[in-house]
Amino acid sequence: MKSLFDDALSHLTKVLEHINLSDDILLRMQQPKLALTVSIPVRMDDGDLRVFTGYRVQFDDTRGPTKGGIRYHPSVTLDEVTSLSFWMTIKCAVMGLPFGGAKGGIVVNPKELSRLELERLSRGYIRAIADVIGPKRDIPAPDVYTNATIMGWMANEYAQIMREQLPGVITGKPVHLGGSLGREAATGQGALYALQQWVARNQLDPGQTTVAVQGFGNAGYHFARLAHLAGFRIVALSDSQGGIYSAAGLEPELIMQHKRTRRELKAILYCDSSVCEEARYDTLSNADLLELDVDVLVLAALENQITEQNAAQIQARQLLEIANGPVDSRADAILSERGIPVLPDVMVNAGGVTVSYFEWVQNRAGFYWDEDEVNGRLKTIMDREARYIFELADDKQINLRTAAYLHGIERISGAMIEHGTRE
Ligand code: GLU
Repeated sequence: MKSLFDDALSHLTKVLEHINLSDDILLRMQQPKLALTVSIPVRMDDGDLRVFTGYRVQFDDTRGPTKGGIRYHPSVTLDEVTSLSFWMTIKCAVMGLPFGGAKGGIVVNPKELSRLELERLSRGYIRAIADVIGPKRDIPAPDVYTNATIMGWMANEYAQIMREQLPGVITGKPVHLGGSLGREAATGQGALYALQQWVARNQLDPGQTTVAVQGFGNAGYHFARLAHLAGFRIVALSDSQGGIYSAAGLEPELIMQHKRTRRELKAILYCDSSVCEEARYDTLSNADLLELDVDVLVLAALENQITEQNAAQIQARQLLEIANGPVDSRADAILSERGIPVLPDVMVNAGGVTVSYFEWVQNRAGFYWDEDEVNGRLKTIMDREARYIFELADDKQINLRTAAYLHGIERISGAMIEHGTRE
């Protein structure tokens, strides 16, 4: 079977028809600069020692220090982390951020760990990778199943090691510890800005636009909440346990309150501050949600959700990729052939890393912005890059993913050429 990384690289190959890259540059774009595997010993609450495996992959740093999140998941592999670090490299270039790309991960199911075990694991990971990260070198952030609290522990561990405060080493920190306002919702907010550009360009009416969202983690939740506030009709939501459907539309904030108390989506009751109501949602599986007849299918869970197996059954009029790599390359080709536009991950979910960039800037300047300034700057960048990609796709008659890659790769290869050669 083709590895995830080979599949990710196949997008690079597609771009070659539209850009002249020298063999040297192409070669350099096909492997990570550094791939580190570490063992992290953790004393568990019951006194036993467990050793976890962690990774940090720095893909390319030509355009600046490498940047990318840390994922905690039982199925994390080096292949996956490498692919994610490649996507980060493209993504930072697509947005014009002065960063290269990296990614980290630990093979763990964080739901099985106590809070103190999770803290020891997170601190142990930073001790293991401390030599290769730094505010001017490689800057981690949250990803799947990691959050601001974990970033706070990590930044503190790094400060202990270095014996100085270096908040710019990690982004996505709690606001009290130098985090940026707006970072928590940034991935969902950025995705909404991208969708709004698309909707305006195609003269769609948000009030008449039905949306199904797969994934109700940080990015999926904030997207659904903000899209609902912006007037889109969210008809379906799902998490890893399954989903709910309502033709009349769902209220993501109420559903989240319910999920927090009951730890699952399948609502029978939901409560706002004063009333509890019987909710009349139909339940559906994740697989069914993907095949709903909606205007926009939002993929905000994990990679490889749309493959050869289900691409022909997709009924949505357009797809919005908030997760990294949710549509594999074969499915991408099938959707392209069927004329279903896919707004690609390297643009759509880049709001997170863009506000991470703002956090890093604020940490280095020691001067903090208000939330309107953060969102205003995010909107300016997302609108500009999204419009550029939409136009490029039209001009060259290529799909949106190829246009986004072309845009990012032009910036990366430009930097590589200007860099000159040392070898
Ligand atoms: N994990 C997020 C992503 O995949 C954010 C990375 C960052 O903020 O550095 O884009």
